[in-house]
Amino acid sequence: MLFFRRNLTMHPLRNFSPSFLPAFCASAFNSFFPPTHGALLCAILFLMPARSAPLPRTPAPAPAAALAKIPAVQSALRWLSENLSAINDEHVHLSAIPAPPFQESQRADALKSALSAAGLLVHMDAAGNVIGELPGSDQNELVVLSAHLDTVFPPGTSVSVRREGQRMFGPGISDNGAGLAALVAIARSFHAAGLRPRATILFVANVGEEGEGNLRGMRALVDTYGEKLKAVLVLDGAGTEHVTSQALASRRNEIIVTGPGGHSWSDFGMPNPINALVRASVRFISTRVPSSPRTTFNIGEIHGGTSVNSIPHEARMKVDLRSESEDELIRLEIALRECLAAGLRDESLATPRYSGPKLEWRMVSLGSRPGGEARPDSPLLAALRSADEFLGNTSRIERSSTDANIPLSKGIDAISIGAGGAGGGAHSLGEWYDPQGRETGLKRTLLTLLGVSGVVPEKIK
Ligand SMILES: [Zn+2]
Repeated sequence: MLFFRRNLTMHPLRNFSPSFLPAFCASAFNSFFPPTHGALLCAILFLMPARSAPLPRTPAPAPAAALAKIPAVQSALRWLSENLSAINDEHVHLSAIPAPPFQESQRADALKSALSAAGLLVHMDAAGNVIGELPGSDQNELVVLSAHLDTVFPPGTSVSVRREGQRMFGPGISDNGAGLAALVAIARSFHAAGLRPRATILFVANVGEEGEGNLRGMRALVDTYGEKLKAVLVLDGAGTEHVTSQALASRRNEIIVTGPGGHSWSDFGMPNPINALVRASVRFISTRVPSSPRTTFNIGEIHGGTSVNSIPHEARMKVDLRSESEDELIRLEIALRECLAAGLRDESLATPRYSGPKLEWRMVSLGSRPGGEARPDSPLLAALRSADEFLGNTSRIERSSTDANIPLSKGIDAISIGAGGAGGGAHSLGEWYDPQGRETGLKRTLLTLLGVSGVVPEKIK
């Protein structure tokens, strides 16, 4: 009853879920009516509003303050407060296992063990995601709590963790060691408290969030579970001051220019792929982009050639395009293509006496992240707001590119939040994490998750 009280005053029956009905019937009517009469009354009341207003499939998010009065929730919150030191140790342990792009399996194994130890039914999918299931009373609705496994650091990078006082240093310690440590801690708190959700919760340590991973883990997850997904809560990095509910659309492309190649002296006058790429780049970086909707571009890598005295046969570059608007992104990508065609034309005009094979170019997609936005009446955002209010935390909405892009682009409620504590130097070798404030981040995560999953009342557990 606690979870729906606020709505009960507005519309007594709209928010009852079928699984909740028996408990309501038992407690409210059995002392006044014989069981058969009680059941009959319940059935009548339950069916009445269905004629005038269809029952939504799911209840509105439960307010955090009400959730925090449930003994099992109190016990889970207490578990988080009392185990901060063990959570720090597990954080260091997980972060010190290498997880380069496309090579997350070693860290995935560790997550598999940790989530199994938290009493979940764990399996790995074909993409390499680790999925730990906590069955709810309603197995047809799924809520996901996820944290990405991968780092941006290539194989061979030392990811060992150094501790100075409270502070931890190591590549990936915050992004996403903090998220993974929280994922496991929340699962353990459910287990320790015997807390059972109404919707089934999937605790997911997913692959492929960073760079060219192109969100492949989250794509696979959304493909697999599709319409059953009610909400996706993504843990990424540290902090409690932000919530990403707006997905930044981006495209990453590699451009490859090829030509015959030759000798710098004897073949002078032959078109040069590096020259063509430079000419195209100079044109492209003059492209005007709007500040609103904010739109950006970056040439992040240029490679090509084999030696100083050779006309190269190939040149490549990688370009990152981002925008708050899908339309602007398309416009920018068209501009990039036009500049490349023009760059090759310019190089051809600069080598008029050459009559051999021409330069060619092609563009390969390294990743495309769709945009999207949580709806203003998003139950997940409402649950987060309520958790923030209960914990005295303030947070602002941000637009960013995260795992939440995928569910958001498909109309599934999703947000990405920090896992608490403080961090800095993400994607650098000097990355650090400070667990001061982690407790708030963990409680915020737990209450937000429960706000959308609901809790099975203990008497019908
Ligand atoms: Zn991350």
